Amino acid sequence: MANHPRPPAVDKALAWPGIQALVACHGRTLVLDALRGSLQKWREGEVSDEASLVANVQQRIERLLAPSMQPVFNLTGTVLHTNLGRAPLPPEAVAAMTAVATGASNLEYDLASGQRGDRDSHVEAWICRLTGAEAATVVNNNAAAVLLVLNALARRKEVVVSRGELIEIGGSFRLPDIMARADCKLLEVGTTNRTHPRDYAEAISSRTGLLLKAHTSNYAVQGFTRCVSEAELAVIAQEYRVPLAIDLGSGSLIDMAALGLPAEPVVADVLAQGVDVVTFSGDKLLGGPQAGIIAGRADLIGKIRKSPLKRALRCDKVTLAALEAVLRLYANPDTLVQRVPTLRLLTREQAAIEHTADALLPALTAWAGADFTVDTCITHSQIGSGSLPLDLLPSAALRLRSTSGNKRTRSRQLRELAERLRQLPQPVIGRISDDSLLLDCRCLEEHQPLQAQWEAQQ
Ligand SMILES: *Cc1c(COP(=O)(O)O)cnc(C)c1O
Repeated sequence: MANHPRPPAVDKALAWPGIQALVACHGRTLVLDALRGSLQKWREGEVSDEASLVANVQQRIERLLAPSMQPVFNLTGTVLHTNLGRAPLPPEAVAAMTAVATGASNLEYDLASGQRGDRDSHVEAWICRLTGAEAATVVNNNAAAVLLVLNALARRKEVVVSRGELIEIGGSFRLPDIMARADCKLLEVGTTNRTHPRDYAEAISSRTGLLLKAHTSNYAVQGFTRCVSEAELAVIAQEYRVPLAIDLGSGSLIDMAALGLPAEPVVADVLAQGVDVVTFSGDKLLGGPQAGIIAGRADLIGKIRKSPLKRALRCDKVTLAALEAVLRLYANPDTLVQRVPTLRLLTREQAAIEHTADALLPALTAWAGADFTVDTCITHSQIGSGSLPLDLLPSAALRLRSTSGNKRTRSRQLRELAERLRQLPQPVIGRISDDSLLLDCRCLEEHQPLQAQWEAQQ
């Protein structure tokens, strides 16, 4: 490149007013790093004068400083989407998190006695009140809760599990693996489709540490099946004096069926059947922060709490503050569904969702451009996070289809459109279904911010 000017020396460029302004704003270290990168671009011919250099440096700094984790619009139709952060938190929880995050708190300090306290104390009474448990403790997530229960109650012992419940949940949580890590020996009983009470009874010996049942939330065994109910297992556990633990996965503190949703085991009902310990997630149907809740018999919870693993798996103050705030919302069943976003979104009326989709149609149509036709359609949302992936929640979506007559072109245009949506200031995540891109509006309670984004780019 004969007439391309040679780049300036670093020190010379650093003294340019535009660069000095950036130094004043971001500090010398960042600017110097960015400047070296931009001077390389100059050598490669992409930058050629003072103005374009300053712009390039500024761009690099902005890219570096942009937050990696950021809000997105979840228009996938899956309410509890693990990759998109699961349960949205109510404002009460956010306020409680901020209050303890910004200063000191009584996390492990008993204000009555002035002595050391227990971090579980902020949520334990609520969990007991809402589940009927004698005691409760909380760890980082439900996978951690299962690991801890196994390790604390059955280390170096046998854990009896039905073959039909050796579950894998997305993200490499496999019960047999967790069992090995917890230093327990897995004793499978029954067959894939049928397990009987006598299978458990015959497996119990002096080596048994625990009977474990896992809620098979993400699949169903149908046809010639038999599984042993919680109540039947509780009788066996009591007769042979071995503890019975159930991994409920989602678990729910209230009756989902009463809200018109698919039935999920209610934690209080399971414990009332004589189960000794249950574990469930904080950020699934409960609608709280990521956490694993362990509730049940006081002596067993005491043992679990004393385990060194509990210390390694414990929750931080911000999580506990959020969990306490969400549990407090459960105190009033009349306002609960409106105040816990997960429950509100799961029960949102189809008519309201359609209204949101209709309101967004003109702005999306204009933004998408002439390559696409846009309309609204009826669809079905999913609960997500291990609940049965059945189409059970009637919803409404914006549907985008390519106008091209060529199938490959249509498919490419849809992928490019999905990418454009992901590149918006607040990215929009939809789902591609057959020949269309669907934006399910169930989780979009306020349509104006999204509409404004599309209008700003027309
Ligand atoms: C989701 C789930 C888990 C894991 O819970 P996390 O809170 O994601 O760690 C464990 N067991 C069952 C049955 C589940 O559904």
